[in-house]
Amino acid sequence: MTGYSTGTPDGELDLLITNGLVITLDDEGRRFQPGAVAVRGSRIAEVGPAASILSGRKASKTIDASGCVVLPGLINAHTHAAMTLFRGLADDLPLMEWLQNHIFPAEAKLREDWVYWGTLLACAEMVLSGTTTFCDMYLFEHKVAEAARAAGMRALVGEVLYDFPSPHYGPIENGLRFTESLIEEWRSDPLVRIAVEPHAIYTCSPELLRRCHDLATAQDTPLIIHLAESQWEVEEVLARYGLRPVAHLENLGLLGPHLIADHCVALDFHDMELLAEHKVQVAHNPESNMKLASGIAPVPALLEMGVNVALGTDGCASNNDLDLLGEMDSCAKLHKVAGQDPTVLSAATVLSMATRNGAKALGMEGQVGQLAPGMLADIIVVDFEQPHLTPVYEPASHLVYAARGADVRHTIIHGRLVMENRKLLTMDVGEVMERVRSYARIIRP
Ligand SMILES: [Zn+2]
Repeated sequence: MTGYSTGTPDGELDLLITNGLVITLDDEGRRFQPGAVAVRGSRIAEVGPAASILSGRKASKTIDASGCVVLPGLINAHTHAAMTLFRGLADDLPLMEWLQNHIFPAEAKLREDWVYWGTLLACAEMVLSGTTTFCDMYLFEHKVAEAARAAGMRALVGEVLYDFPSPHYGPIENGLRFTESLIEEWRSDPLVRIAVEPHAIYTCSPELLRRCHDLATAQDTPLIIHLAESQWEVEEVLARYGLRPVAHLENLGLLGPHLIADHCVALDFHDMELLAEHKVQVAHNPESNMKLASGIAPVPALLEMGVNVALGTDGCASNNDLDLLGEMDSCAKLHKVAGQDPTVLSAATVLSMATRNGAKALGMEGQVGQLAPGMLADIIVVDFEQPHLTPVYEPASHLVYAARGADVRHTIIHGRLVMENRKLLTMDVGEVMERVRSYARIIRP
C-alpha cells in the first residue's frame, strides 16, 4: 500500500506526525503502521507509510507518535458547552423537573462572561479528551463562538431560540435578528460557523419553527433542534397539534438533510421512515438519555434504515462530562443491552459515528472526520503505551471500549497544535477553572 498526496511532494511541511499507527477512517478504511501524516498550513498534505513520507522531507515540527494511534479528531455533535457551569448542580431528577426547577432558574442568572469562561472550560475538557469539533446550542452564543476561537476549536454554534423571553436577547424578534447578525459576523471565519437553533417543538410555536427554517435555508446553514427527546414530549406535541414530533416537523416542511435532530429517543417506525426519507441528521446522546432516563434512541434501526447518526454528549449538567471516548463506550454497550444483542453497534461503527458521521451531520463532510490529503488537519494522537491498552489486537476496539480521554496525548486543529503532551497551548487552564469556580459560588451561594 502506498501513500498518497496533494501539492508539491517535496515542499516544506509545517507539521509531521510519524511512526504511529494511522487510522484514516477514509472510504477505503486505510491504516498505515508505521504511518505518517504530513500537514501544510491548515490542511493534510500527505497520509501514508512513514517510510514513503519521510524520505528527504523537512518539517518545521515533527511529532514522534511511536506507540500511539493517530486518527481524525472526534466530533461532538450536540452539546451546551457553557453548562460546565452547572456540572453536578442538580442530579438524579426527571427531565422536566430538572429543566424547570433547576436549570432554567440557574440560567436566568447567566451573564455573558459566565458563558465565555464556561465554554472555555468545556473546550479545555474537549481538547484534552480528543474532541476537535463541537456543535453547540446555548444563550449568549457570541461568547461561545469567541471562546471556541480563543481555544482554537472548530465549532458550529447557534443562539437558542424559543417563544418566551430569553435572559439574553429578550423577545424572540431580537433573537432572530441576533442570529442573523451572528451569521454575518462569522461568515468567513475558518473555525466557527453559525446555525439556526430553535430549542424544541414544545418551546417553539409553529410560526417560529417556520421562520427558523426559512432563515436557515436563506443563509444555507444547518437548522438544529431537540427532537423527540422523551415520551413526555411526544404526548405534549400530540396533545397540542395532533401529530407526533417528527410528523409535526414534516407538516411544517422542516425535515431535510440540513436539519440536525438532537436525541430522537421516542420514535415509532413511521417517525424513523420520515427521518430516513428526508435524510435528517440525528445526534445521539446516550449518556444524557440514560442519566435523565429519557429512554433509548433506536440507533441500530436508524442506521439500518440509512439515517446518518452522529454522537454527542449533550451538556455537562446531564452527562456530566464531555469525554467522547467514554461516550463511545456507553453508546456501544447501551444498544447491546437494549437489544440483547452483542453484535449491534460494533466498535468500528461507533468510531465512525464520532468522526465521519459527525462531519456529515454538521455539513462538514469532506472537510473533517477522516485523514486524507486536502482535508482540514484535525488530528489526535492517542497514547497506546498504557497497561489498559495492552496488548493491541484491534485498535478501534481499544478506542471504544478501553481508552479514556486522558490517553489523548496531542490534539491538532486546523493544522495547529492546541495540546502537546497533555498541555493546552491556547489557554491558561488554571485561570479558566478558577473563573468557573468563582461563578459557581454565585450560582449556589
Ligand atoms: Zn441538548
